[in-house]
Amino acid sequence: MKQWLQHTLEKLNLVTTMEQPEGFTRLGYTDEEWEAMAAFTRIAEELGLTVTQDAAGNRIARWETSENKHKPAVATGSHVDTVKYGGGYDGVAGVLCGLGAIKLLKQEGFNPLAPIEVICFASEESSRFGISTIGSKAMSGKLDVDTLASVEDENGVTIKEAVESRRLTWANVKSAERRSEDLASFVELHIEQGMRVERAKRDFGAVTAIACPIRLVLHIEGKANHTGTTPMGQRQDALVAAAPIISFISERANELSEKSDLPIVATASTIELKPNVMTVIPGQLDLGIDIRSVDDRLKEQLEEEIRDRCKQVEQRFDVTIDVEKLVHNPSVHLDMNVHDKLVSLGEELGLTSLTLESGAGHDVMNMAAKWSTGMIFIPCREGLSHHPNEHASIDDLYKGTTIITAYLRKETGE
Ligand SMILES: [Zn+2]
Repeated sequence: MKQWLQHTLEKLNLVTTMEQPEGFTRLGYTDEEWEAMAAFTRIAEELGLTVTQDAAGNRIARWETSENKHKPAVATGSHVDTVKYGGGYDGVAGVLCGLGAIKLLKQEGFNPLAPIEVICFASEESSRFGISTIGSKAMSGKLDVDTLASVEDENGVTIKEAVESRRLTWANVKSAERRSEDLASFVELHIEQGMRVERAKRDFGAVTAIACPIRLVLHIEGKANHTGTTPMGQRQDALVAAAPIISFISERANELSEKSDLPIVATASTIELKPNVMTVIPGQLDLGIDIRSVDDRLKEQLEEEIRDRCKQVEQRFDVTIDVEKLVHNPSVHLDMNVHDKLVSLGEELGLTSLTLESGAGHDVMNMAAKWSTGMIFIPCREGLSHHPNEHASIDDLYKGTTIITAYLRKETGE
């Protein structure tokens, strides 16, 4: 089985060795993602599953019988797209372990009383369009088709054009939405992209919630002027004004995290400086801030404190700061019944778990809006992801496969 996992991992990544110095680049709705989707389809069909593509390009590999086909399906899955120069495990791990679970169940002659599905979602990563989880948004009816149609990638290709380049019709994408009664539950396996499971010396993580971000952009307006002739006391330097705010965000998130039950993380992650010329005082600066916690009140508290700090900075440095809120997504709580089942099924297999929340977004956050949803994390080396050196061991992929197998068996068994 471990050998099958290794070979199938390589097939899904379209390589013959996982050692790829440049990593993997399979952006959403590109030829590369579609080739990995085709590999998924071939492997699923070899396992005897029936694969369909929905109107958003998601692939659904289904195991149904004439007796069970009218029942809600129990589903698992993830995605095969990557960021630029990303790793071969983020996304692929969940698809692989789902397919591996089908293989194990078929080997033992299991007869599911409800259909089982392995879903490969389209375009999960936000790296092409700045919009994440397009496929699972469409499946759960959360895709805002009208506003998204004209969003462009860096080459000026719109989402609509990208989707249609895959012989899909943008006007039909909404029909990818499935009814609540189509699925009984959905479980996603994913690499942790952190080190908490490994540090706690547990086998896997059982996820309770997905921390969704508040994202702000501070537009700091000072005055550009000559660096040589403008006296120190007469400057309106936007970069100098940003400096204490950047420090405050990091220090305050640290303090709040230590004091609270649930962690909060906040990052000043982008900066755009104008004119960005050696001999000119920075006149304008845009600072992007990403704040995440599953505790929404804590996120809002930090946002308020950042706004207060901006007011102080405006006075002190003679600049104006306009705070733009780009995103405010409430955190998504997963189904604790599914969580508890995954934990106890792990125990039955002799596997220990750590209950934790996810700092990153995943397809489950959309699926959870409509269906009972759970998630497990398997460790990845040094917590590294979105990087060519991303790695999960075959042993951990195998353990993950056995948990998914046990879950599917329990939920579709007698
Ligand atoms: Zn992922």
